[in-house]
Amino acid sequence: MAAFAYLDHNATSPLRPAAFESMVEVLRAGGNPSSVHAAGRKARAAVETARRQVAALVGALPAEIVFTSGGTEANNLALSGAGRRRVLVSAVEHDSVLRAVPGAEIVGVDGNGVVDLAALERALGSSAGEPALVSVMLANNETGVLQPIADVVRLARAAGALVHCDAVQAAGKVPVEVHGLGVDYLSLSAHKLGGPTGVGALMVRDGAPFATDRRGGGQESNRRAGTENVAGIVGFGVAAQEAADGGRDLAGWRDRIEFSLVQIAPRARVFGVGARRLGNTSCISMPGVPAETQVMSLDLAGVCIGAGAACSSGKVQRSAVLAAMGVPVEEAGSAIRISLGWNTEPADIERLIAAWRDLYIRVTQSDISQAEAA
Ligand code: PLP
Repeated sequence: MAAFAYLDHNATSPLRPAAFESMVEVLRAGGNPSSVHAAGRKARAAVETARRQVAALVGALPAEIVFTSGGTEANNLALSGAGRRRVLVSAVEHDSVLRAVPGAEIVGVDGNGVVDLAALERALGSSAGEPALVSVMLANNETGVLQPIADVVRLARAAGALVHCDAVQAAGKVPVEVHGLGVDYLSLSAHKLGGPTGVGALMVRDGAPFATDRRGGGQESNRRAGTENVAGIVGFGVAAQEAADGGRDLAGWRDRIEFSLVQIAPRARVFGVGARRLGNTSCISMPGVPAETQVMSLDLAGVCIGAGAACSSGKVQRSAVLAAMGVPVEEAGSAIRISLGWNTEPADIERLIAAWRDLYIRVTQSDISQAEAA
């Protein structure tokens, strides 16, 4: 049996072996892609191969791909680079979008976490000649809920607005086609699809406005200065190629988890269940048991899961996504996130269900004995 069942792919998906091998080779070879000698040319060729692989993942032109240090930088680059003073973002965006532009206007979501298109249309209609940038994610990191991006683009275009889409959680899990979607900017992150951490990309549609105040060398066609993270980019390319088929269909396993957990704890609730969702993600509550307790208890049982949004500090904060969906504070505080991925095995699912059942029995028995003692 594996040391642990890793069911936290939306935080970071383990590095795919082929990506690892490709990175080791590049690290051994070295070379700066801007150098004109043989070693530099080899590094440049490796970066350009990766650019084609990443572009193919989302149906973009290779020239539209700008490599970054991850999804966070891609989101920040898009929101500042579009050069629009008025920015509208959905209430369930990742912090790297929500906090990128002070004063951004927030568009609400419904109880399933789907952006309120009527509210977006109203907000766009009130722009009084000021063209906006709209940023709506493709798939939510906590609930897996998919947003109606084609509708967002239609409304935005009618109002002369540009559209950015954070596809960090969607790419490699569902097919993504940038030109079909019609977005101007699209963010990607390698470590969500089995590439390394610390590398990502921003797709900037050919012809879309883009300006950056980052100063340095002219790398990435003057769109992102700084010597490229060659090994990271190459690992990203290989992972993107492996994930390009839209990933494994994990919805059956996700449904088995949700069915079992609700059978164990009838008051458990699955969030976003009424919307279209990623097949790999389940956000579910065990009422009365704080998410931290569940995460720690499952960890002791050898199961890695997440609690709401995984924060860099390791502290569990109240989920802004569930708050925006109108989930009461206490219930949101007992919500965990289970996310499956490329190396998930049926044994991992069974281990999770067994550990969750054990915890639930322990908690309910201690509640009964406390009530009896009172
Ligand atoms: N956007 C979404 C939806 C995410 O889930 C994340 C990471 O959790 C990011 C952006 C940030 O990506 P990165 O960790 O590569 O900076």
